[in-house]
Parts: sequence; structure tokens; C-alpha cells
Amino acid sequence: MSKVFRNFIGGEWVEPSTNDYFDNVNPADTSDKIGRFPKSGEEDVERAVASATRGFEQWKRVPAPLRGDVLRRVGDLLAARKEEIATLMTREMGKPLAETRGDVQEGIDTAYYAAVEGRRLFGHTVPSELRSKWAMSYRRPIGVCGIITPFNFPMAIPTWKMFPALVCGNACVFKPAEDVPHTGHVLVEVMLEAGLPPEVIQLVHGEGETAGAAIVRHPQVPVISFTGSTETGSKVGEICGRMHKRLSLEMGGKNAQIVLDDADLELALDGVLWGAFGTTGQRCTATSRLILQRGIHDEFIRTLVDRVERLTMGDGRQPGTDVGPLIHEDARLKVERYVGIGQGEGAELVAGGSRLTSGAHANGFFFEPTIFTRVAPMSRLEQEEIFGPVLSVIEVADADEAFAVNNDVKYGLSSSLYTRNVEVAFRGMAELDNGITYVNAPTIGAEAHLPFGGVKQTGNGHREGGWEVYEFYSETKVCYVDYSGSLQRAQIDTYAG
Ligand code: NAD
Repeated sequence: MSKVFRNFIGGEWVEPSTNDYFDNVNPADTSDKIGRFPKSGEEDVERAVASATRGFEQWKRVPAPLRGDVLRRVGDLLAARKEEIATLMTREMGKPLAETRGDVQEGIDTAYYAAVEGRRLFGHTVPSELRSKWAMSYRRPIGVCGIITPFNFPMAIPTWKMFPALVCGNACVFKPAEDVPHTGHVLVEVMLEAGLPPEVIQLVHGEGETAGAAIVRHPQVPVISFTGSTETGSKVGEICGRMHKRLSLEMGGKNAQIVLDDADLELALDGVLWGAFGTTGQRCTATSRLILQRGIHDEFIRTLVDRVERLTMGDGRQPGTDVGPLIHEDARLKVERYVGIGQGEGAELVAGGSRLTSGAHANGFFFEPTIFTRVAPMSRLEQEEIFGPVLSVIEVADADEAFAVNNDVKYGLSSSLYTRNVEVAFRGMAELDNGITYVNAPTIGAEAHLPFGGVKQTGNGHREGGWEVYEFYSETKVCYVDYSGSLQRAQIDTYAG
């Protein structure tokens, strides 16, 4: 019998009102059952929001530096448990240990950043246009934040959202993705152990369409932060738009690495291998397109295919594993469907293309790292997010054509440009239509203290990470204090003498 986990609602670990559960399994070996997690319903969300509302009333009165102290202890506890959490994360979502360690580290970095931010949360004090009057703005908490997260960064993404939300004085109702509830459970455990008042955090496990949707449409949840697919984000956005909620959306990507003729090709090779096949291509910032200038195209592909064929696929907890499994069978079927679409569109399959089903791979959702060349700009393979280990190669004549191909998709998360020409590098930074551009580094590599997010259909203009996310989780309040002792009318008495 696998372990049965609970929600954390109303300050205690509780069974779901539905009495219904789902299984969490290891995607590298589905016979390895991790545990059973609550399939929560409307009533659970109702109780969680009521409790979080009480938690908010208490927490918003705690001085921000003291709220930051709690986050510092969260960071310390995550650091102490880093290896254990990385191992359980790899077990439930598949990416190799080096990557899950990085995922936990991002949570630690975010905690320490948040701790310090508790001593800043700057507002502005500006001169008033009137005499003997002060004018200033400061940041206030908002209320209960609904936190809905995807499977691919089970620790980093929830921390990007919840830590700033909490330092700003809000309470959180957290629904982790169905595929990674164990990491979500441990994160909440750590937050409680660090001293977060119990009603400030609520953990509601369950399916997106039920538990997730109930959080999104709850009238007492004024803030929603969602990371996931663009399709789900549209549904979430419709509801939030109707209800005038504050909403942060981080969604799909179709990121490109551009390699120009003058690039350091070894460096570019290392970059694309990491960018395209790290996390089995299941990163919002994954390199799913490789845009190669004509002069180096053939040689680069030859070396790349050789390197890809030497990647080791397997259980991410085994030393030597380069690429883990996909998250579930639906994800593998989607990858397979796109391999068929690519072939139908006339692209040339030069590596991979098949599922792995025997030996150590028999019980997991493994799929070979796959490369297509001669991919036509505007084809489905080139335009649509696959979210798997499939790299589409597009050949271009020059930097201008490369930039145009990069920009000609509906997404705009990250891009990468390999060149030794400083002028082209700066032109790329200005012209590549993405939220993040890396020069001589892969499409992956966000750091916790910089804003993170994408343009176009990837997001809705907000950013996670860095200083900008604190704007999202707080409301600006402006105060004027007039100590002149007389009525001074703005704009009217300003120039009165
Ligand atoms: P998903 O959209 O299937 O699920 C994301 C979350 O939304 C899950 O917790 C799910 O339960 C919940 N959900 C599903 N339906 C819902 C509904 N109707 N109402 C409320 N919540 C609902 O995404 P996924 O498969 O977990 O993650 C992969 C996607 O996430 C990819 O498209 C990837 O690009 C994107 N992603 C984006 C970023 C970014 O920062 N831009 C980061 C990571 C992942």
C-alpha cells in the first residue's frame, strides 16, 4: 500500500471532503508508486479560502522584516534538506538529480531574496506641488493569492510565486500540478516548520479542472498566479477577466537558439544539448528550434547528431543519466504525434523519433532525443509547443533572417544567440522578440534575482522573480499629508502665490 497524503487546510493536515484520491507514480518506472494524494473538490477549496482569509488578517499585521525572517528560515531548511528533496523530486517527475538539485537551489535563492526584500519593499516619497504637504506611496498586501503551478519545476515555480506573495503580507492557497504533489507537500511542510502561521498557507491537491478552477473562480481570491500551458492559461484568464482579478500568467514557449557562422561552435553545441534535451525538453525555456546559418549548418548537424546519439536515457537518480523520461503517457503520445506531423510536413528526421520500451526503459515514459532538419518556417513543427525532446532545425542565410524566424511564432519567452560579433549580439538583444535573450549561452538559465517572463502568448505582461514580482503581489497605496492648516486645492492653488 502506498502512503496516503493529505491536504493542509485550516491549520491541519486533513482528508479531502470527496474522500477521493489519485496515484502519484514515478515516470521512469510506473510500478514505483509514490503515494496517493487528495482529489479535492469545491468544499475543500471553500474551507481553504475561508481559513486563508483569517490567516491574511493576522499575517498582514506582521512587520515585513519579520515576515522575511520566516522566509530566511525556509531557505535554511530547504538547504538542509536539498539532497532529500532533489531525490524525491526526481522520483516523481523524472529529471536527473543535477537538475532537481538546481530546482531546489532556485527555491533557496528565492527564499533568501524574499527575506531581504522584507526589509525593503520600497515605496516612493516625492515632493508635493503644494506647500507644507507630503506625498508618498507605499506597498500594501492584497489578500488571498491562488497559486497554480505546473509539473516541470515543482519547487522553483511555487517558490517564485509564494515567497514574494508571503513577504508582501498575503496568504496563499496552493494547488501543485497533479504530477508533482509530493514536492508540493514537502514545501508546505518546510514553510510550516519555518514558523509560517498555519492559516497563511493552504495546500489543496487535486485536478486542475476541479480544484484549480474552484480557486480561480472563488470571489475571495483576488489574486491568481498561474504557470502552465497557454490553453489552460486562456481558461484561467477568461474567468479572472470577468471577475476583475489580478492575474499573472506564465505560459508556453517555442524558444530558439541561433548559431551564426562566426560562433564558437563547441560552445554552441554544449548549449543546444543542454537547452533542447535537459528536463527532456519539458521546460518553458527549452530550445525547441535551432536556427543555423548556412555556412556551418551541415557540420554542426553532423556533430550534434553524434553527440545526441551518445546521450544516456534512464532513471534520473542513476549516475550517468543525461535525459529522464517524459512526465506521462499523454506527453509521450503528443511527442509521437508531432514526429508524425514533422514527417508529414517533409522535415527530415536525423536523430531519434521513437519511444524506448525495453529493458530499463520498459516501465517508463521514455522517448529518444529527436532532431528534425529542413524544418520549414511557419510549419506546425516549427510553430507549436511540443514540450518534449524534439528539436527542429531551420537553415537561414544571415542574422536578419535568423531574427525574423525567431520572432515569427506566437510565443516569446527566451532566445539565444551565438556569435562573436559584438554588433550583431547587441542588435539581437534589441530585435529578438522575447522576454529573455541569452548571448553565447543556451535558452535556459534564469537566475532568481532577475525578472522572468515572456512576451506575446507566453505571458500577460507580468514578471516572476527579481524585484518586479513584488509589484504584482502588492497594491500601491498613495498618501498625502497636508500640514499647512488650510485647504490647498491641487492644480488650482498650486500657482496661487
Ligand atoms: P497545465 O496547463 O496542464 O497545468 C498547469 C496547472 O494548471 C496544473 O496545476 C493544473 O492542474 C492546473 N489546471 C489545469 N486546468 C485548469 C483549470 N481549468 N483551471 C485552473 N487550473 C487548471 O501545464 P503543465 O502540463 O503542468 O505544464 C506545462 C506547460 O507549462 C507548458 O506549456 C510550459 O511551457 C508551461 N510552463 C511555462 C512556464 C513559464 O514560466 N512561462 C514555466 C513552466 C511551464
